[in-house]
Amino acid sequence: MSVQYDTIVIGAGIAGCCAAFALQQKGQKVLLVDRSGMAATGGSGAAGAFVSPKIGKGGPLQALTNEAFVYAKDFYKEYFPDYFHQTGVIRIPKDAEDAEKFSVYEQYNDTNYQWLTPAELQALGIKEEHSSFLFEEAGVCDAPELCNAILKQIPFKQFDVQELQYDGTYWSLLTPHSSLLTKKVVLSLGYENTLFDMRYMGVRGTWGSRGDYYSNLKLDVSMHKSISVSANVDGIIKLGATHVKAKEPCMVCDGRPLKSLEEKAAQMVDTSDFRLKETFCGMRSGSKDYFPLVGRVVDVPYMAEHHPNVFRGAKPALKHLKNMFVLNGLGGRGFVFAPLMAQWLAELIVDGKEMDKRVDPDRLFLKWARKVGVRSEE
Ligand SMILES: Cc1cc2nc3c(=O)[nH]c(=O)nc-3n(C[C@H](O)[C@H](O)[C@H](O)COP(=O)(O)OP(=O)(O)OC[C@H]3O[C@@H](n4cnc5c(N)ncnc54)[C@H](O)[C@@H]3O)c2cc1C
Repeated sequence: MSVQYDTIVIGAGIAGCCAAFALQQKGQKVLLVDRSGMAATGGSGAAGAFVSPKIGKGGPLQALTNEAFVYAKDFYKEYFPDYFHQTGVIRIPKDAEDAEKFSVYEQYNDTNYQWLTPAELQALGIKEEHSSFLFEEAGVCDAPELCNAILKQIPFKQFDVQELQYDGTYWSLLTPHSSLLTKKVVLSLGYENTLFDMRYMGVRGTWGSRGDYYSNLKLDVSMHKSISVSANVDGIIKLGATHVKAKEPCMVCDGRPLKSLEEKAAQMVDTSDFRLKETFCGMRSGSKDYFPLVGRVVDVPYMAEHHPNVFRGAKPALKHLKNMFVLNGLGGRGFVFAPLMAQWLAELIVDGKEMDKRVDPDRLFLKWARKVGVRSEE
C-alpha cells in the first residue's frame, strides 16, 4: 500500500518537530518519521532547553540568535505554554575580567534586560559579586515534553530511514509494510547526517550531559554563568551542561558526567538539598560556522561529475537534490533557533520564498569543495 504526502520530515527532535508543525500550519499534508517511537530521543531530549538571548559584542550570529530568541519565546507562549516557563534568565559574568566586558556587551543587548546588583542577586538566592543582566522574557522549556506535545499534533510513523529513492515526481521511503511517497523531504537528522553526501555542511558533534535534581530550594529565576541552573519548577532544578567535542557519543563521562556541573552549581546557589533525579546525555549537531543549516541540499555527486573544476576553485551554479531540504546545525541553541528556522523553511518549501543567506547551507559548498580539491592535490 502506498500513502502520499506533501512533505515527510525525518527526525523528531526539536528541529523536525518545528519543521513539521510549520509546514502543517501552512496546509501541507505532513508526516513526521523517527527511528524512535517518540520525539526527542536524540540531542533534544538531553537539552536543558534554556531559551535566552546571546550576549556579546554584536555581530551577525548574535543578531540572528536574538531574532530567533524573540520568535521562539512568542512561539512557545502562543502554541505550547504548558512547556515553556518564562522564569527569566540571568546572565552572570564568569569572572572579574568577564564582568568588565558586560558594560561593552550592554550596548548590544537588543532584547529587554535590566541590571541586577550583587545585593539583588543575593536576595534571589544567588551567590555572586558581579552585576549581571536579567532577561525577563527568557526561560526554559521542558524539552522532551514539548517535542512530544508537538508530535501529538502531527501524523507520525516510527521508522529507521536507510534509503530514499526519487522517481522524478516522488521520493519514496520503503517501510516493511508500505511505501511512503512524498513530494518533498526535510532531513532533520541531528548529528547523524548520513542519508546523502552532506559533508560540505560540516556537521560536527558536541557531546553533553545535564541533570535534573529534586530540591526544595526557593529559586524563581534561571541563570547562566559558565553553566546553567534553572529556576525551581515543580520541585526540580536543572543543571546543564557539559561540552565534550566527540566523534562518537559519550564515553568521556567517567561514570560521573555531572560532577563538574555540581561543583560549579554549588558556587552559584545553595545545592545542599539537591538529590539527583535523572541524568540526560546527548549530541549537539553544530555547523562549521555556528550558523544553522536551513534550505536545499546540494547534489554533490552531480557537481563532482559535471563540474569537477569546482574542486579547483571554479564557481559553477549549484545543482540541488530535487525537493530535498535540511534543517540542522542548531548547535547548543536548538530550542532558540528551531521555531524561526522552521518558519523560514516552510516559507521556502510552500511559498518559494528565498532562504536567508546566513543560514542557507549553500554558503559552505564552494569553500568545502576547494578544500577537498587542495587536499587531493597534496
Ligand atoms: C546536554 C545538552 C544541553 C543542551 N542545552 C540546550 C539549551 O539549554 N538550550 C538550547 O536551545 N539548546 C540546548 N541544547 C541543544 C539542543 O538540544 C540541540 O540543538 C537540538 O536538540 C538539536 O535538535 P535536532 O532536532 O536538530 O536534533 P536531534 O534532537 O538529535 O534529533 C534528531 C532526530 O533524528 C532521528 N534520526 C536520525 N537519523 C534517522 C534516520 N535515519 N531515520 C529516522 N530517524 C532518524 C533521531 O532519532 C533523532 O530523534 C543542548 C544539547 C545538549 C546535548
